[in-house]
Amino acid sequence: MCGIVGYIGPREAYPIIIEGLKRLEYRGYDSAGVALFDGTDLKVCKTKGKVVDLENKLPTNITNTGHIGIGHTRWATHGVPNDVNSHPHYSNSGNLVIIHNGIIENYEALKKELIKRGFTFQSDTDTEVLVNLIEDVKNKENVKLGKAVQIALNQVIGAYAIAVFDKTQPKEIVIARLGSPLAVGVGKDEFFIASDASPFLEYTKDAIYLEDEEMAIIRLNRDIKIRKIKDDSLVDPYVQTLKLNLEEIEKGGFDHFMLKEIYEQPRAITDTYRGRLNRQEAIIKMSSVEDNMKKFLNADRIIIVACGTSWHAGLVAEYIFEDLARIPVEVEYASEFRYRNPIITEKDVVIAISQSGETADTLAAIKLAKSKGAFVFGVCNVVGSSIARETDAGAYTHAGPEIGVASTKAFTTQITVLYLIALRLARAKGTISSSDFRHHLLELEMIPKKVEKVLESNEHIKYIADIYKDVHNFLYLGRGYNFPVALEGALKLKEISYIHAEGYPAAEMKHGPIALIDENMPIVVIATKKGHYEKVVSNIQEIKARKGKIIGIVTEGDVDVRELADHVIEVPETLESLSPLLTTIPLQLLSYHIAVLIGKNVDQPRNLAKSVTVE
Ligand code: GLU
Repeated sequence: MCGIVGYIGPREAYPIIIEGLKRLEYRGYDSAGVALFDGTDLKVCKTKGKVVDLENKLPTNITNTGHIGIGHTRWATHGVPNDVNSHPHYSNSGNLVIIHNGIIENYEALKKELIKRGFTFQSDTDTEVLVNLIEDVKNKENVKLGKAVQIALNQVIGAYAIAVFDKTQPKEIVIARLGSPLAVGVGKDEFFIASDASPFLEYTKDAIYLEDEEMAIIRLNRDIKIRKIKDDSLVDPYVQTLKLNLEEIEKGGFDHFMLKEIYEQPRAITDTYRGRLNRQEAIIKMSSVEDNMKKFLNADRIIIVACGTSWHAGLVAEYIFEDLARIPVEVEYASEFRYRNPIITEKDVVIAISQSGETADTLAAIKLAKSKGAFVFGVCNVVGSSIARETDAGAYTHAGPEIGVASTKAFTTQITVLYLIALRLARAKGTISSSDFRHHLLELEMIPKKVEKVLESNEHIKYIADIYKDVHNFLYLGRGYNFPVALEGALKLKEISYIHAEGYPAAEMKHGPIALIDENMPIVVIATKKGHYEKVVSNIQEIKARKGKIIGIVTEGDVDVRELADHVIEVPETLESLSPLLTTIPLQLLSYHIAVLIGKNVDQPRNLAKSVTVE
């Protein structure tokens, strides 16, 4: 995920682009860059760091010149954040420049082909491959930029919002989108391009939102021509007048970043398995796992170290790895692990999980494990973060920046990555049959659609939140795969509403927490069909007998729990092992709505910080 800005018209392009990038920094902020055309020459300036670092780096001669330009603020997916990997990227001839938001899945194959044809590459990015592919097509087919972009994109698998400029045709910018947002602001004789409307709101409120699989050629002093990338058919531009204010636009129209990020989960989960899960060929491709397969397969056990929500993702992974790949797993709080003289050997694989990749306790646990000779694998969201650098190998979640302090999409994407790893190891170890493996791939691929379905219950969940918003205690119960989800649901409520909540394995309730239950106590019970359903139904009976209020998270069409519960929230059916990816969503929404209804600051809860970089 990143921010894209472009301008073509009579004004100075540079200030519009730089200010626009600042507004898009919430989308990514590890590097920034601009390409400006001053009428004769194309100049690119880019740097690791924030937009202010770019401003400081810009030589004075390229500020305040030119009326055409593009700019980018990056959230790295391929290649660490550094100056070279920053966008814009030049093609080999130096004629084309590109900015890109997204992931080109088949970039490795395309790159190999281009290298054979004599192309060279400076960066590690997938983006530089795309700009050279466009150049190659342009030369081979002897076509203009727009056509070359179209032909090239038909060879690309992945997600993108791009803007491309060609200094040999300096009166136009070509843009295209598939899976990443792209808006065009329409002014008088001028066009603005941006990932959302915030960079151009003060200039125009008229906007065209490009649809997936559409591209457009935007011509100076002329017009915008939109076409379908696949069949070249012309699309009538639909210009809408925006009513949103700036803050609303940054949050994508949502009231809070947390809610936006909850709703981003279908996309984020897709981005996590994009390029890794190939159902047609029935393979999982993760080079960091392939390269270290021996280490994984010879491991005596896997030790997962993490904190907070990541620790809960680790607990889910314990069930997944043991169930599918039959490898013993221990899950440790990083803060405890590092101080208790743990037994670690060279035959241990340690998996460290952290959204930011900067969690101090997790970093210390990694160093300890490495000093004992263990192989350490990182699962982080932030590319090039300390944990990504400290570990021997790793896999990114590709969730995009998470701004809300209460983690949501980080949790589900961490589970997705760990699931892919477990499945790959299960296949290698032969602990899963090929038909089961295929079935898991299919079910995993269907999760984003099913998450969308769960999100449709938002209003119903808000209604339930309103009923219970004033209570002082909550209990969350789940069994098996959904026990860690109960912990996570309770944590979310505590974090943002400051209501005391506890998560428990449903069967453990009898050994203590049952004493808390009375007619004022709401109890969230995860009771999906495939997860020890009958046993959970018995637990619900026990709660009912003590007059507790039951909010059941159930499988679509459930009858038994519905009869007993005060409220039910349905989730689509899936494999038990994948159910945490669905059952978590209503719990996120429940805590969100309760916190909003009682007037708490959802995105910045008291006493908390987004990444805990101190002990
Ligand atoms: N895949 C590209 C990169 O890593 C674009 C990432 C983005 O969306 O910022 O450079």
